[in-house]
Amino acid sequence: MGHKLTLPKYSIGTGDRFAHQAKAQLDACIRALDHGVEVAPVWNKSNREHMIIGSEPAETRRAADEAVKAKGWRLPYFVDADHIGEQTMGRFLSSSDFYTIDVADFIGRAADAEDIDRFVHATGALEGKIALRGTDEAITITKDDRRQAAAKFLAAVKVAGTVYRKIEAVKGRGRFITEISMDETDRAQTPAELLVILAAIAREEIPVQTIAPKFSGRFNKGVDYVGNLPQFDREFVQDVAAIEFAVKQFGLPAELKLSVHSGSDKFSIYPAIHRTMARFDAGVHLKTAGTTWLEELIGLAEADGDGLALAKDIYREAYAHREELCAPYATVIDIDPARLPSADIVQRWSSEQFTGALRHVPDAPLYNSSLRQLLHVGYKVAAQMGRRYLDLLESNEAIVARNVTENLYARHIVPVFMGKPK
Ligand SMILES: [Zn+2]
Repeated sequence: MGHKLTLPKYSIGTGDRFAHQAKAQLDACIRALDHGVEVAPVWNKSNREHMIIGSEPAETRRAADEAVKAKGWRLPYFVDADHIGEQTMGRFLSSSDFYTIDVADFIGRAADAEDIDRFVHATGALEGKIALRGTDEAITITKDDRRQAAAKFLAAVKVAGTVYRKIEAVKGRGRFITEISMDETDRAQTPAELLVILAAIAREEIPVQTIAPKFSGRFNKGVDYVGNLPQFDREFVQDVAAIEFAVKQFGLPAELKLSVHSGSDKFSIYPAIHRTMARFDAGVHLKTAGTTWLEELIGLAEADGDGLALAKDIYREAYAHREELCAPYATVIDIDPARLPSADIVQRWSSEQFTGALRHVPDAPLYNSSLRQLLHVGYKVAAQMGRRYLDLLESNEAIVARNVTENLYARHIVPVFMGKPK
């Protein structure tokens, strides 16, 4: 029955809200390949995004296939049903070959007491001091810790197992990539908890290839990381080491790696991620999303004329509806209302002022992270414009594509996978 579908060691998740940038995104991977580094493209889109935009998973698949064909990409690529669950997986079954099973909502749900007992007894390998290769501090796990972690995470892992088996029943074993995500929750998982979670996943016999824990610090949408960098660094090292341990100890797939749900543009943690990948010879899946949509706006603003006018109209609408647009993203944005220029001020901006405020160059004098975050969540406004937005995207394809490719390659792929300064 053919070979098992495997996610390459380096992979990047790219969102494409309006399904117009797949070729430009793929060009970023082609540039990396030209430098000898294979980074597999994964087009990800969540059910929430499809709902807000009014798009269908089949459109994501079509755009990916067309881009791959047009550019002659002969290496693996995937289409990720991002953050799905039992209720939402159905519409992705024919078009995706990568499933991010989101079980964050089930963290803390009561697990069966006997299940917890059985789990605690079966995981004696996780007892006492565990020395993880490449880390200075051993992790100590007691029976009580295992019991507590099981009480917290076992129900969630069981749900992941149920969803996995439903997908497997349709797609076939080994015919899709499985990711389990727990990032959309309020508290970061510790490396010790990650070990317990991985033990539970192995017992549930889910051939997981990527796992997305929640890391400490804030991963706001489209802007840089806010948090304690040394702490992130230490945690990331321990998580990578924990995965290496779990692969050997529990027989999980050898290609298992971390998936970083970055919310895009976490420039300040990219060097730490790269360092650790190099030290452990580990892979990573870097998931980004709204960064491409913002490059579409930057490209339109850079085009001046009708493009700039449209970008300003989008800002005007987003500004007018900022509360309603921000509500679904309240936990992952930090907008300072005092830093948002009024729509009338933006109306008078030149092309350079608009792109300077929006383009993510954190130390650039005009850069405005509040404006960037508002526009990040403002894609609904563009979706409501329908053809007016898409027509301008199409008539400005070259300038938009240049921004999309450059952003993905220079600001994301290079620092994470190639380790060169951006
Ligand atoms: Zn996520």
